[in-house]
Amino acid sequence: MSPKDCIFCKIIAGEIPNYTIYEDGDTLAFLDIHPCAKGHTVIIPKQHRERTAGLSAVEGPALMNAVQKTMERIQTVLGPDGFNVGWNDGSAAGQVVPHLHIHIFPRWVGDGGGSVHSIVKNPGEMSVAEVAKLFL
Ligand code: 5GP
Ligand code: ZN
Repeated sequence: MSPKDCIFCKIIAGEIPNYTIYEDGDTLAFLDIHPCAKGHTVIIPKQHRERTAGLSAVEGPALMNAVQKTMERIQTVLGPDGFNVGWNDGSAAGQVVPHLHIHIFPRWVGDGGGSVHSIVKNPGEMSVAEVAKLFL
């Protein structure tokens, strides 16, 4: 997809409004339009990058720094008891908008949500030891 057709590039360009909660030279964090939790936020690189593998060695750490700053901001304003932080990398993993974005879900004790372990429960037939051998 070309950046001119990308909904998140349009947000960065100011063509689509957003509720910004953190911004720096490389990164924008704004409230998700269909929140899964109060304060559900997405953080995007200002350069159009479709997936993690497209980030440069500088862009990756800059994005992580923005995640930390955004979490601090949410902590100050909303006071959650915890967070789930992660991203859907590729359509097989549930990515719908093809501009890399990290989700932050603020969490509260008793909110009824799960952990990242609830995303998938399908470890396959290979043992952990067999999988480990593939990495040697
Ligand atoms: P994905 O499934 O690709 O990881 O998540 C895309 C996220 O972007 C969804 O949670 C969706 O609600 C959010 N989203 C899509 N379009 C817009 C938009 O125009 N504005 C905002 N703030 N969020 C959007
Ligand atoms: Zn884009």
